[in-house]
Amino acid sequence: MGERVRSVKGMRDLLPPETAVWAAVEETARRVFGTYGYGEIRTPLVEPTELFVRGVGEATDIVGKEMYTFEDRKGRALTLRPESTAPVARAFVQHGLGDRGLPVKLYYCGPQFRYERPQRGRYRQFSQIGAELIGDPGPASDVEVILMLVRFLQALDFEGVTVLLNTVGDDTSRAAYRAALVDFLAPHAGALGDDSRRRLGTNPLRILDTKVPAEREILLHAPALDGYLTADSRAHFDAVQEGLSAAGVDFAVEPRLVRGLDYYSRTVFEIVVEGLGAQDAVVGGGRYDGLIGELGGPEMPAIGFAIGEDRLLEALPESFRASHQPGAPVHLAAAGSVEPGALLGLAESMRAAGLAVVAELGGRSVKAALKRADKAGARWVVLVGDDEQAAGEVTLRDLEAGEQQRLARSAAIAAIKESS
Ligand code: AMP
Repeated sequence: MGERVRSVKGMRDLLPPETAVWAAVEETARRVFGTYGYGEIRTPLVEPTELFVRGVGEATDIVGKEMYTFEDRKGRALTLRPESTAPVARAFVQHGLGDRGLPVKLYYCGPQFRYERPQRGRYRQFSQIGAELIGDPGPASDVEVILMLVRFLQALDFEGVTVLLNTVGDDTSRAAYRAALVDFLAPHAGALGDDSRRRLGTNPLRILDTKVPAEREILLHAPALDGYLTADSRAHFDAVQEGLSAAGVDFAVEPRLVRGLDYYSRTVFEIVVEGLGAQDAVVGGGRYDGLIGELGGPEMPAIGFAIGEDRLLEALPESFRASHQPGAPVHLAAAGSVEPGALLGLAESMRAAGLAVVAELGGRSVKAALKRADKAGARWVVLVGDDEQAAGEVTLRDLEAGEQQRLARSAAIAAIKESS
């Protein structure tokens, strides 16, 4: 016997019935995002490596150490997408999607790849549902995007949704703050870990994200970005907060929230939900006014978010899960000398009536069929023996009630439909 082949570390199979819940979550996203005028975009899983180096930024963890990068047969550097904002921005530029009017509203749903240490809720292939609003610089768009996200989470029955909000300012604010932060941290460089010391030279704002207690201690006295905002950035941030309050969205300003990627400007946010650790945000998002210009397109403001679908599913309220599990199919079995093949026609007419049907085509005993139906959690079993066959009837067995009756085929179908 050959050795078993297993799935790649950090990449998992999603199996039924859980996949039905995934599909329901995605269907809900399509429906809710559709009501805000978003259309679906599907970009390739593979992009030129350069897209992420330029778009996400060389100094980020993603580009620095997490990408699945390889050469194709012609030596082109390709990467499995680690996120989808840069691919959407690329597609926007490549197809001139803004030519027919702005803003352009797009959502996506699909796998992303990052070479991270696998752990609970963290995988090397994971799924994100995200949306991007491209072409409007105003704070009302920030509010609408966050509102759409909250409505989506509410449609999944989440309560206790908290939006953590911050601003990272515009380029001018950030340059001034970066210099002040480096000045403050430089004398403490010896007390920083390797990662943070490296970031001091490459991406000092990311140090604010640190989980290392000793570094957090030092940061308690660090200057806050707030003090370096331009008047324009501050006004934008104030307007976003006012808009969210007016819309009744719960949010908390989190001054240390900076988000990992290089491309953010002004508004950044994360969402935490009950049921996951506070460090496990299910959503990250923000404004990225410089990205599209960076990728060779026009200067174009944009804002978006990405929901971690795997984590979302882990925290999904039981009420949503329960109402979107498919019911067990009706089991259909032949008895006596009736050939299993004779079940095919009846099964088709039941399916045409909208029922989910598993026909026992393996020709096993009625007892075995009943056992299988019970194991599958089915309520109804339809038996066709010689008598029933001759009369155009069936025996309908209700496993829940422990009763059975002879009925015409159409009456049996109607009885099952009535019960569901
Ligand atoms: P990011 O694209 O890094 O802003 O992440 C957005 C969201 O995607 C996070 O809040 C997580 O919920 C999710 N996410 C990021 N990386 C992973 C991963 N390796 N496995 C599962 N979910 C992830």
